[in-house]
Amino acid sequence: MKKWVNQNIKMLTPGSGTLVNVFLFSFVCLLVLGGTSGAASKTRDRVYVKRAVDGDTLLLRSGERVRLIGVDTPESVHRDKPVEYFALEASNFTKKMAQKKFVWLEYGSEPKDIYDRILAYVYLEDGTFLNAELIKQGYAFAYRKFPHRFLDDFQEYERQARFNAVGLWGRFSRGRERYDVIWIGSKKKKEYHHPSCFRGAALPKNDLVRFYSKHQPRDKRFKPCWNCAK
Ligand SMILES: [Zn+2]
Repeated sequence: MKKWVNQNIKMLTPGSGTLVNVFLFSFVCLLVLGGTSGAASKTRDRVYVKRAVDGDTLLLRSGERVRLIGVDTPESVHRDKPVEYFALEASNFTKKMAQKKFVWLEYGSEPKDIYDRILAYVYLEDGTFLNAELIKQGYAFAYRKFPHRFLDDFQEYERQARFNAVGLWGRFSRGRERYDVIWIGSKKKKEYHHPSCFRGAALPKNDLVRFYSKHQPRDKRFKPCWNCAK
C-alpha cells in the first residue's frame, strides 16, 4: 500500500488540475489515516503455510517459522524426549486446518521468541481462530507463562475442554503427564474411574492408583465407579 500512496503523492506534485488534486489529496489523506489508525493493515499479514511442523508451530513458504501465541500442544518433535500423549493428534489437527493454505497472522507484544520464530495469532481464511480452536477442541493447553490479550479466554476454553473431556482431556484429566493411563482408581475404596471422571479427578494423590491396561482394575478386583458405569 505504501508504494501506491507514494505514487499518488508524486502524481499530486506537478500541481495541474487543482480540483482533481484536492480530491486525490483528501483521498490519500484518508488512506494514510486509515492505515495508521486501523490496526488491520499494520498488524495483519496474509501468509502461506507450507507445513505444520507441530501442533503449535508452522513453517511458512518464506522459510520462517511461526509459533502460535498462548497455546502449548504436546511435543512430538523433540529429539531427546519421547512423543507426548496426544502430540500426533494435535499435529494432525493443525495440518488439517492450516497446511498448504493461506492464513492471517496477527501479532502480540513480542515479535519473535528466542528461537527466532514469529509469535502470532493465526486466523484461517474462514475466520477460525486457530490458537483458540486448538485449546477448545482439547489439542493444546493454555500457555500461562507469558501474559497476552487472550490469556483469560484461553484458560476458560481449557477449563471447558477439560470439563467436557475432549481431546487430550478424554483419557486423563490430571494435567500434563506422559503416560498411557487407561483407568485410575482409589486404593482404599477399590473403585476405578475413567480418567475424565470428576470423582476420579478428586482422588487424593496418596490414594490414587494408575492402571496401564484395560483389564487391570478388574483383575485386581476393583469395581467401576457409579458415574463411570453410567
Ligand atoms: Zn468415576
